[in-house]
Amino acid sequence: MKPYSVRNVSFGYHGGLLFRDFNMTLESAELLGVIGPNGSGKTTLLKLLTGVNRVSQGSIKLLGNDVAKLSRAEIAKSVAVVSQDQPQDFVFSVEEMVMMGRLPHVPRWQWEGSKDWELAREAMILTGVDHLIGRNFNQLSGGERQRVIIARALAQEPKVLLLDEPTAHLDLQYQGEILDLVWRLRKEIGLAVLLVMHDLSLAGQYMDRLIMLKKGKVLCSGTPKEVLTAKNIREGFNREVDVFWSNGHPHISIKAQVLV
Ligand code: ADP
Repeated sequence: MKPYSVRNVSFGYHGGLLFRDFNMTLESAELLGVIGPNGSGKTTLLKLLTGVNRVSQGSIKLLGNDVAKLSRAEIAKSVAVVSQDQPQDFVFSVEEMVMMGRLPHVPRWQWEGSKDWELAREAMILTGVDHLIGRNFNQLSGGERQRVIIARALAQEPKVLLLDEPTAHLDLQYQGEILDLVWRLRKEIGLAVLLVMHDLSLAGQYMDRLIMLKKGKVLCSGTPKEVLTAKNIREGFNREVDVFWSNGHPHISIKAQVLV
């Protein structure tokens, strides 16, 4: 059963249509990058996948089940989301944050049991934040916070992980750390992962497959090599770029128009 199968979906805001007959899949144990300029529909797509926005036409199947028939709580049992904005001014400890990931699985009015603590601990070990137990979430660095948030997502025991620009606001070292972590999670626990990404070079380096959106349409999709061509990027982002490949990794640089 595919983690996600999106078929002929239409959706728009205020009477207009952003997506029209939109199709995509997310395969098992796949790292799929969704790229595209601002306003192309990346965040809207995440909201459709998680049932925050409901499709007007077409269907979204999550592990074979129609998302339209699932409540947000049911979706949260198999899909974890790491959104772009990190919580601010959270007076919770690291372990309290991670335990929040167990909420979709805890029956109403029952606090977590020892199995929940065990799963939270495993998630902290996997993401390398177990040494931060006892610390206040507020006092962590940006990279540490992002790893705690990913631990919270894993404590949810998801089959699918959706991340909206997980490296935004992080410096180079932490960008690499977070993407290495996501790559390892896919390999070690077979998660299907969809990431919205802005950095095309990083997307090309880490992702198995890329989808480039423009105005709610799939402009192109395929391996990073197929998608990240100067022609596709020009078409998608309205900008001239140079694309070089070395050791199988793309290097994409913007051509400065004022300097030509
Ligand atoms: P991206 O994440 O690629 O920047 P979005 O999905 O946020 O794109 O937005 C796609 C389009 O939908 C944009 O034109 C945006 O203005 C519009 N849009 C997004 N959210 C809303 C909303 N809640 N109400 C109305 N229009 C919206």
